[in-house]
Amino acid sequence: MKTFYITTPIYYPSANLHIGHAYCTTIADAIARYKRLAGYEVFFLTGSDEHGQKIQRTAQAENKTPLEYVDPIVENFKELWKKFYISNDDFIRTSEPRHEKVVQEIFKRIQDNGDIYKGEYTGLYCTPCESYWTELQLDENGCCPDCHRPVEKVSEEAYFFKLSKYADKLLQHIEEHPEFIVPTSRRNEMINFIKSGLEDLCISRTSFDWGIPVPGDERHVIYVWFDAVINYITPLIHNPDMKKFWPADIHLVGKEIVRFHTIIWPAMLMAANLPLPKQIYGHGWLVTDSGKMSKSKGNVVDPVALVEEFGADAIRYFLLREITLGLDGNFNRDALIQRINSDLANDLGNLLHRTLNMIGKFQKKILIASTEGTDLDKSFRLEALDTAAEYRRLMDNVQLSDAVKVVWKFIGRANKYIDETTPWKLAKDETKRQELANVLYNLAESLRIVGILISPFMPATAEKIFEQLKVSSEPKLDDAEVFGLLEANHEVGKPEQLFPRILIED
Ligand SMILES: [Zn+2]
Repeated sequence: MKTFYITTPIYYPSANLHIGHAYCTTIADAIARYKRLAGYEVFFLTGSDEHGQKIQRTAQAENKTPLEYVDPIVENFKELWKKFYISNDDFIRTSEPRHEKVVQEIFKRIQDNGDIYKGEYTGLYCTPCESYWTELQLDENGCCPDCHRPVEKVSEEAYFFKLSKYADKLLQHIEEHPEFIVPTSRRNEMINFIKSGLEDLCISRTSFDWGIPVPGDERHVIYVWFDAVINYITPLIHNPDMKKFWPADIHLVGKEIVRFHTIIWPAMLMAANLPLPKQIYGHGWLVTDSGKMSKSKGNVVDPVALVEEFGADAIRYFLLREITLGLDGNFNRDALIQRINSDLANDLGNLLHRTLNMIGKFQKKILIASTEGTDLDKSFRLEALDTAAEYRRLMDNVQLSDAVKVVWKFIGRANKYIDETTPWKLAKDETKRQELANVLYNLAESLRIVGILISPFMPATAEKIFEQLKVSSEPKLDDAEVFGLLEANHEVGKPEQLFPRILIED
């Protein structure tokens, strides 16, 4: 069986969850579900990145140990993923012993290969970002280029990773593998970054101890980024059944951490004699009308409240449809409500409701064997198949938003097919029985296909469609590429509303 391995970044345990956390994970989930639908054996990993000075300081301020501080936050993450129907196969916490062990092994391996040495580090450090910066990289106010907070000058004995040694090898790899960094804009950024020169990377700290100790020199803890990225191989490296998943197919990451994933992580893997991941996909940020969501700006959208209000599928739909992967996307409540009312309640909800209602009313819920029918019937069936083929092409290319749009274009076509064929008129004419049966059969089939195609985006809604159609709830992509799988005499269920319309208050 073909395998597919996708990861999200492991998230920093922030007490303030926002919809941005859910965005990245929803994309990864849709891709993972699609690959399972297409017959792959999938491993989907997410987790939490728990070490570092900032966590230690925050915990101390609350009179807690780092773990006491982090545990409930991590539980909230896990709860949120359940609410969003995230189908991850594993959840890794960097504080787990299984991870600590692998990090120390990789450290040792790179050290034994001669690529880790001891030196003295003086640098400008941003504590919130856990990143060292050079003078040149600072913003116009001399602050961290990522978060724009002040940096501190820090000097300490430290271990270094020979990152500079890998500059040429990395460039060569990136140039020989155009698919390694996507989108192209990020690829070009990284090529320029490497060409501007790579310095060796300081990978240990002595100023705090909430981290994984350097093997054989326990005064030092391993730099959080060096520790964190190793999570991607932690569940695989010692498990004979899991090794087949490496190298990962996609590391999905936010654009602000592409640098760690396309430069430091691959260099570490090269130094440890391990194969590189096939692709790093840098997605954009979810912004609101007032910019990137952050606590200080007070524009954080709480995903838990949102799910409780609208349901996870509606939010998943909105995120996957509205935001082109790779670009920044705007999160806007009015736009969400509009999409729910027009695309979900109206287009999809009505199609299902009208179809089942008519099959119930005109044929006692029973499908009747269809014939080839009119030219309109034939072109409608072809459109269903074209939709499934185009969907596969787009999903294979990770163009999620385009794939959603293609399905909804077909849903629009199906609603129009009802208006054009006017089944309620056919039902009044005894001589049009077969014509009516054809139309209703084609509609039921198209809903079966739509249910399969939307299952990676909206798993609960797909399930409801399958239930109402009374078909198997174990969808396969291949079954969406065949028209006519529903048997004659198949009995459908009763229509139930998929999405209530949301009243807009002025
Ligand atoms: Zn920063």
